[in-house]
Amino acid sequence: MAELKLSSETRDLTRVERIGAHSHIRGLGLDSALEPRAVSEGMVGQTSARKAAGVILQMIKDGKIAGRAVLIAGQPGTGKTAIAMGMAKSLGLETPFAMISGSEIFSLEMSKTEALMQALRKAIGVRIKEETEIIEGEVVEVQTGKLTLKTTEMETVYDLGAKMIEALGKEKVQSGDVIAIDKASGKITKLGRSFARSRDYDAMGPQVKFVQCPDGELQKRKEVVHCVTLHEIDVINSRTQGFLALFTGDTGEIRAEVREQIDTKVAEWREEGKAEIVPGVLFIDEVHMLDIECFSFLNRALENEMSPILVVATNRGITTIRGTNYKSPHGIPIDLLDRLLIITTQPYSKDEIRKILDIRCQEEEVDMSEEAKALLTHIGGETSLRYAIHLITAAALACLKRKGKLVESEDITRVYNLFLDVKRSAQYLMEYQNEYMF
Ligand code: ATP
Repeated sequence: MAELKLSSETRDLTRVERIGAHSHIRGLGLDSALEPRAVSEGMVGQTSARKAAGVILQMIKDGKIAGRAVLIAGQPGTGKTAIAMGMAKSLGLETPFAMISGSEIFSLEMSKTEALMQALRKAIGVRIKEETEIIEGEVVEVQTGKLTLKTTEMETVYDLGAKMIEALGKEKVQSGDVIAIDKASGKITKLGRSFARSRDYDAMGPQVKFVQCPDGELQKRKEVVHCVTLHEIDVINSRTQGFLALFTGDTGEIRAEVREQIDTKVAEWREEGKAEIVPGVLFIDEVHMLDIECFSFLNRALENEMSPILVVATNRGITTIRGTNYKSPHGIPIDLLDRLLIITTQPYSKDEIRKILDIRCQEEEVDMSEEAKALLTHIGGETSLRYAIHLITAAALACLKRKGKLVESEDITRVYNLFLDVKRSAQYLMEYQNEYMF
């Protein structure tokens, strides 16, 4: 049991860290003509990459980019992930956005291609339309054992199931309330009160009295739309505890037959006009970590008509394609590279680093003196933006420790000496490598 708890805690921690680093990004910061604003929605600079991402986003929204893939390439810390997060935020809730890191697919729990398949299906949405019957009315009387809906002319007795009766009880429905009942789900919505009546809800039995709303119909048909991902349908149908597995993330491998059955069912719903496919976005960070098998799997998956839009990112130049002896740009095979739209990110100017650090200080609610910010900007330019961002939190702690209110240069210097950046760490290793195990 202790072991199980540890694994779920670890998973939560990674999620917190990942959301944390980009929590200030609220979109791509473009205006209605898709032109990037200098500083907007937490985004600073990187204007041509943001503009290109905006154009791609528009093509996604117009459904014009199925089966395509986008590569965001650039040096470390130049905002590739930030741009992908900006795209996700601008997509809207109905379009799924799934995000994995290239190295995540190597696990003992499932094969590489199964992990990729799950990621792809997390990025394909299904919009399912359902008709449901709504009863709308005003409660005239709540009696033990009775639910009666009454129009001005006539009184109708509805025999509602136990689920609805329970819902009526939970909502504390009283006489005089105007309510709507969804017959399929048993959901009760209070629409307001028409006129007060004395009797309160008491022990609710199977019947209650209503009159019709002045302008409403006694019964209506309403179209409800659910949005789920193919992965969610897979998980729920593949295990007895499917629904729970969705929360724990402990999905295991899903059998090919289950997926085939689901695809056939979804195809049927589409033909009957009951469902629509919403291709979302799958973002794979550190794509150079994938190997040749994964790349050919992805190449094939992109051919599928239900394929999501693939956005991949890498900070590597010409490097070996994992699983082969060949080198290629970004470690991606040429045939896949050929179908990618490529966006590049550029190193930041001092001024842009300063603005990003300002935004991060605000986001982390850290008050910092101008002098300390100037020093941190200088450090960011000499080392990396990510390192400078990390020092904000550490310096705030150092400031707290000396009971200060404003983070000063001395706090920055203290944590700069405490935590090495990559360059100094490598230098240290070179100097002392003989003392390490080898
Ligand atoms: P790597 O190649 O190392 O994965 P990356 O290019 O993906 O790096 P990010 O992780 O996006 O870089 O950027 C590092 C940090 O800087 C993140 O916290 C990110 O949110 C922030 N950041 C980067 N670019 C911008 C930007 N243009 N505007 C605002 N914040 C940014």
